[in-house]
Amino acid sequence: MKLVSYWLDTAEPAGDFRRSELPSRADVVVVGAGLTGLSTAVHLARRGADVALVDAHTVGWGASGRNGGMATTGLAISFATAVRRYGEGPATAMFRAYNDAIDTVEELVAHEGIDCDFERSGKLTLACKPAHYREFAASAELMGSLAGQEVRLVPPSRIREEIGSSYYHGAMVDPLGAGVHVGRLTAGLAGAAAARGVSLHEEARVRELVRRGPHAHDVRTDRGTIRADQVVVATSGYTGGLTPWLRRRIVPVGSFIIVTEPLPRGVADELLPRRRVASDSKHLLYYFRITPDNRLLFGGRARFSGSHHDRGMRSGRILTRAMTDVFPVLTGTRVDYCWGGLVDMTLDRMVHAGERDGVFYSVGYSGHGVQMATHMGKVLARVLAGEQAANPWRDLAFRAVPGHVGPPWFLPPAGAFYKFLDAVS
Ligand SMILES: Cc1cc2nc3c(=O)[nH]c(=O)nc-3n(C[C@H](O)[C@H](O)[C@H](O)COP(=O)(O)OP(=O)(O)OC[C@H]3O[C@@H](n4cnc5c(N)ncnc54)[C@H](O)[C@@H]3O)c2cc1C
Repeated sequence: MKLVSYWLDTAEPAGDFRRSELPSRADVVVVGAGLTGLSTAVHLARRGADVALVDAHTVGWGASGRNGGMATTGLAISFATAVRRYGEGPATAMFRAYNDAIDTVEELVAHEGIDCDFERSGKLTLACKPAHYREFAASAELMGSLAGQEVRLVPPSRIREEIGSSYYHGAMVDPLGAGVHVGRLTAGLAGAAAARGVSLHEEARVRELVRRGPHAHDVRTDRGTIRADQVVVATSGYTGGLTPWLRRRIVPVGSFIIVTEPLPRGVADELLPRRRVASDSKHLLYYFRITPDNRLLFGGRARFSGSHHDRGMRSGRILTRAMTDVFPVLTGTRVDYCWGGLVDMTLDRMVHAGERDGVFYSVGYSGHGVQMATHMGKVLARVLAGEQAANPWRDLAFRAVPGHVGPPWFLPPAGAFYKFLDAVS
């Protein structure tokens, strides 16, 4: 079993940017070469800006190269919760931003000619309990009446049309959801950025941002300093001491994924006949899909600590058991990959983007960043040009996690809390 991301292992990097010479100045320095940073760089370059993109590791090394590759509709909280919390108008606008976000991915892929298996196969949300299916029905009605979103309910009696498992109690299908090969997407965006004149710098950790004006900063990295008119921080679940204010507001939750050996076509057809991307209704949810080369990707088992080797092996074994609980037909199937990553959760599970201490940021996609991180790159390019109204999250208060002033001590209790919620809800 390889303990690396299947996506990064099966994608050709756009280049080696580990030794590239840093410029002494740039209009904008973007910190973090995940989907947020890459998309921001491409969209700024499209507008003619001189951009430097720096990452402590390599392109796509963070959550962007480690996720499930599912670009789905809907917020990270239920639509009904969003309506209760923010009111009908704002909740509907936020909900629609996710549809725009999938469109952004589709447009980028087409316009920049990125070969990454983007496909609108639809999103399948699966009910773990009969009560969850009843909640789906209420949600579907609300989404239809307020947001005009057409989703289809699949009752337990017809669930086999969607999934080769009797584990679930009904489902909801949203045809707008998409799957994508995120290794090829991140590499493709890096290639597009480079082709548009962005200077990329890997293994260039930013150590300090020294303010030189309302937005201007000296960006001090391990490989030199760049003077920038504007700075974007796009570090999400990997946010550290560089921006303590942001770090206090992000809960980095570990999630793991396994990928099987390539399956015979008949087996893949039985598991997910319509090749939809799927997740279930638990707090500590399972999510799965078929990869472009007919493997099953199966994720879940949130560990409330970072990923390292022995925990990876242990999570691999736990996830394999979970996978065969859902799909008994896979008992004995070889698992080729297992890896983990940090999901950038926030207290309210909403995206937060704006400006703090003269630095722009967009973080907190709470498990929905494939489409939204990519979309926020487009939004940030407009925000940097002064169009604050382009940012759908501009009015949200961004609360710190109480007592979170250094490493996230609260993660084991949070894990126990989510387990408790799954047992009772
Ligand atoms: C296991 C897993 C499964 C997921 N599944 C899905 C899914 O199926 N669908 C979905 O929509 N979302 C999913 N997500 C969430 C999604 O992947 C993220 O929300 C998204 O990729 C965040 O992108 P980003 O560019 O903001 O951050 P990242 O991709 O995390 O990039 C942050 C980058 O910042 C760099 N960095 C940090 N500090 C510094 C510094 N000081 N100097 C320089 N660089 C620095 C890091 O090296 C890193 O490369 C998943 C996440 C995980 C971990």
